[in-house]
Amino acid sequence: MTVPMLDVSRQNAPLRSEINEAIAEVCDSAAFVHGPACKAFESAVAEYCQVPHALGCASGTDALLLALMALEVGPGDEVILPSFTFFATAGSVWRMGAKPVFADIDPVTFNLDPEDVARRITPATKAIMPVHLFGQAADMTALGELADRHGLFVIEDAAQAIGAEHRGRQVGGIGHVGCFSFYPTKNLGGFGDGGMVTTHDPALAERMTILRDHGQSPRYIHHVVGTNSRLDAIQAAVLNVKLKRLDAYAAARGEHAEYYNERFSEPRTAAAVTAPSVVGPELGGQSTSVWNQYTVRVKAGRREALQQRLSAAGVGCAIYYPKPLHMQQCFEGLGYRAGDLPHTEQAAAEVLSLPVFPELSELERETVVSEVTAFAAGVGTPMPAQRAA
Ligand SMILES: *Cc1c(COP(=O)(O)O)cnc(C)c1O
Repeated sequence: MTVPMLDVSRQNAPLRSEINEAIAEVCDSAAFVHGPACKAFESAVAEYCQVPHALGCASGTDALLLALMALEVGPGDEVILPSFTFFATAGSVWRMGAKPVFADIDPVTFNLDPEDVARRITPATKAIMPVHLFGQAADMTALGELADRHGLFVIEDAAQAIGAEHRGRQVGGIGHVGCFSFYPTKNLGGFGDGGMVTTHDPALAERMTILRDHGQSPRYIHHVVGTNSRLDAIQAAVLNVKLKRLDAYAAARGEHAEYYNERFSEPRTAAAVTAPSVVGPELGGQSTSVWNQYTVRVKAGRREALQQRLSAAGVGCAIYYPKPLHMQQCFEGLGYRAGDLPHTEQAAAEVLSLPVFPELSELERETVVSEVTAFAAGVGTPMPAQRAA
């Protein structure tokens, strides 16, 4: 049996007629830019994320850029962010002419370690950019306290985490600006690119509204230099249909993750606790996850062997992310060296993400479990006990 890492068609197929109708409505109305579908989607996301202002834009990357522009982050400014993330987090900072300052992660949650962030604050620091990686909310309490104490902005990269919570608060509405992506592989995925910025601050919302439209208000009167970044109305129409199901999708992902956690924690030999070869994910105490990825660590240089076994069995898996951003050639000029961010580098060498998409069947996830546990047993060191918060 083959088990895909992700199969978006299974999610979209049952919605075919509803989505086609929504797209047809946009086509008939000819309101291709902004218009009712976009407005409806912005209001729905604002309500879903419990934040008063939500503004559509062209992608998650653009959402990060708009946030940075609105907060006037630029040359001479430093932004502290993880190195263990998708490229866009750091790329957007660099593109604004500011300096990305990479901080290490908490090895348990894979999210920014607030203590390491604190060590990297300088007089030039202007913002902290936590990423809610793999769907789990970062430690926004500790990061928020740091930001308050030093007068820093907090820009949440919530691209992988719509619906996740920290202490009962939705991500995207905790920092100054939240940034979302609707790229097809995200938890709320469109039929192409799309993004959103969210904020509680009406002045910031106004600024980002102008910035996404070349800085003009009214038309042809330009206050600042912005960009053209719109959420396509056809994407908004599709996303409106799918947002209604987002809670159900998240629940299914959560159920798969819980199943994996349980099955992977069944004791198999006495060696399980002392030298595990595969270690499942754990949540930080005050955060929930919407499980954009289910990511294990494969110890002792055995990752490639597990990958080979899974691919021989037809089971999809993927490495997010194999090379930390501080080690990327394009950031060579920042002067980082191997060993500077030990937890990040270790994670990059050990992580492996397993299929966790909502429509995964019971038989499929059982296949994943039996392959992984057989691998762990085969090297004599089964998986250790899990703990889900
Ligand atoms: C996907 C992603 C982005 C960028 O989103 P796009 O819509 O692809 O531009 C940014 N940050 C993280 C953490 C992501 O996963």
